[in-house]
Amino acid sequence: MARAGLMEGSPLARDILRRTAERAALFTAQTGSRPCLATVLVGDDPGSVTYVRMKRNRSRDAGIDSRYVPLPAQTTTSALVNVITGLSDDPAVHGILLQHPVPANIDERAAFEAIAPRKDVDGVTMHSFAAMSFGRPGLASCTPAAIMRLLGAYNVSPRGRHAVVLGRSPILGKPVGMLLLAHDATVTYCHSKTRDLPAIVRTADIVVAAVGRPEFVRGDWLQAGAVVVDAGYNPGNVGDVSCGEAIVRASLLTPVPGGVGPVTIAVLLEQTVDAALEQAGLAGPR
Ligand code: NAP
Repeated sequence: MARAGLMEGSPLARDILRRTAERAALFTAQTGSRPCLATVLVGDDPGSVTYVRMKRNRSRDAGIDSRYVPLPAQTTTSALVNVITGLSDDPAVHGILLQHPVPANIDERAAFEAIAPRKDVDGVTMHSFAAMSFGRPGLASCTPAAIMRLLGAYNVSPRGRHAVVLGRSPILGKPVGMLLLAHDATVTYCHSKTRDLPAIVRTADIVVAAVGRPEFVRGDWLQAGAVVVDAGYNPGNVGDVSCGEAIVRASLLTPVPGGVGPVTIAVLLEQTVDAALEQAGLAGPR
């Protein structure tokens, strides 16, 4: 039985990070300071603490300073907005990442919107979403941009293909659907109220799973030869797709871990350097 090829994210991430480190060094040579990413973490959710540590380590390796701003879980929306507004106004900070999800007592959207669009290197503001959806210059939503980079690296053209996106969150499902549309796919969004999900998924040439439920997408939901992108990341390093079942149906499949995740971090740092160069008036091609 044929097995899917794996769309490995780590080699692509290494390429992006190598080039990002070169551009960070160029920024430093021209300005005398390093690009700086501020990372705001509210509370002490172990998964978020791990993500933030990984992002800070990768920043250091790429020659990017990271300013870590840990805040207690009881932080109010207005206190968080004040902190982010301060970072937006600080000329020494080029990019701002608010690690999400934030605790339930906080209005996450209000906090995201306090990020100045030119520093929105995670691509979470309404400004970034609109610019991306209209195909205008701006910073992209990181995980969706990483998914498009992976498809490109493995020569998967969305043009004319039916792409089914499972999930419609503002940071993942919705923006990845807009990017697929911009690349001429015919896009169907599915969510928790969708009826007969398996039947819709069976019509997909490209499946993007972003539901946050371990092994939710089963092998018999997939059309033979489908390209399957598993954006899910659940406890125990488990994706949103049943990998063992999908691998004998799909033509290409992202592994979890080692698929979308490493490319997302690389895109975050790439966009931090983009933002730093832009703010210094040094923007040029990647
Ligand atoms: P989210 O905000 O919780 O959104 C989940 C989406 O899935 C919602 O749109 C929800 O529908 C839909 N959904 C939930 N249960 C469903 C069901 N039974 N049938 C159909 N749809 C269902 O999650 P998220 O932030 O987008 O993250 C999704 C996954 O991606 C998580 O595993 C997360 O860890 C992972 N992730 C990975 C990266 C990365 O870099 N690799 C980055 C971010 C997130 P409704 O809208 O109707 O509620």
